[in-house]
Amino acid sequence: MARYLTDLADVLRAAGEQVVEVPGWKTRGRPGLFDPKGVLCHHTAGAGDGLADATAMATKGRPDLSPPLAQLALSRKGVWYVLAAGRANHAGRCKAIGGLKPYPGQTYGDGNEQLLGIEAQNRGTDAEDWEPTQYDAYVRGVRAITEHYGWSIIFGHKETSTSGKIDPDFPMDAFRRAVAAGSTPRVALRLGDRGTDVEALQKALNATGAALTVDGSYGPDTETAVRAFQTANGLEVDGIAGPATQAALKEDDMFTDADRARLEASLTRNDGAQLRKDIGYARDQVIAANQTLQATVTSLQATVAGQAAAITALAADSNVDAESIKADVSAAVQSAIQGLEVTLAVKPGEPAA
Ligand SMILES: [Zn+2]
Repeated sequence: MARYLTDLADVLRAAGEQVVEVPGWKTRGRPGLFDPKGVLCHHTAGAGDGLADATAMATKGRPDLSPPLAQLALSRKGVWYVLAAGRANHAGRCKAIGGLKPYPGQTYGDGNEQLLGIEAQNRGTDAEDWEPTQYDAYVRGVRAITEHYGWSIIFGHKETSTSGKIDPDFPMDAFRRAVAAGSTPRVALRLGDRGTDVEALQKALNATGAALTVDGSYGPDTETAVRAFQTANGLEVDGIAGPATQAALKEDDMFTDADRARLEASLTRNDGAQLRKDIGYARDQVIAANQTLQATVTSLQATVAGQAAAITALAADSNVDAESIKADVSAAVQSAIQGLEVTLAVKPGEPAA
């Protein structure tokens, strides 16, 4: 079967991704079988980036490999380039693992038949980090594609290769966890994770006294900071930012960045007078509400005392029946409650005087 995934660009766009279609992609593909059931992640290992490099992958290939070299390319800025809808030369032989089928009588199969290839434009060396812009787009794009086509297979080339490929150079388990986490926040963050969740974690840790570089990469420094926070807060010390640690960090970080910015702005504007006014107004509100409540309670006590006296007097009169006493008391209490509701109608959020 030679499938052409002509809706690839739409799938990514619908997921909110930035998409550039390399002309001719819908009819571009190698001869041969293409019936993908999963995604294979690569990095290009080169310095090339953006449209020129993507176009070369789509139309020129390499001296030893005919184009297209993948169905999709992903730039460092997180832009998706759609290179081909059909079969591409990216996977070679794939190990028959995790649902991939082998050639008859072999331990490996046709990777290009069974997998859609994504080439991320990245050197994939220690000298080049995976910036969150690119890594997060990778996660989101793979999520959108696998969800749309109903695929559960996500591999890195280094996992399926029978010839010792090493790409991509990020941990695939963490990547798959990030993809599976979907739109809900990741439950636990740990060494090797990357992305905006990790950035938020690093900011929160810094707010508690750590001095981390906020780079969205959960490295040894971040792990050390998590351990220190866990020790200081009586949590299980495992270096993993799980639900308990994240909740404790949130409590430690009551102010949002916006709150801080507003506070700082108001202080640099030397707006102490307004601040005092606001605080004074809030205090007056509390005092007024207290006085109202006190008066209401006093009045209610008086009403109840009066009713108690009346009931005592009525009880002495054998001609009065129990139902009419009950009705009298009920009416008195109703009226007292209405009085309470009226006097307690304090409006919160009134503008400062
Ligand atoms: Zn590869």
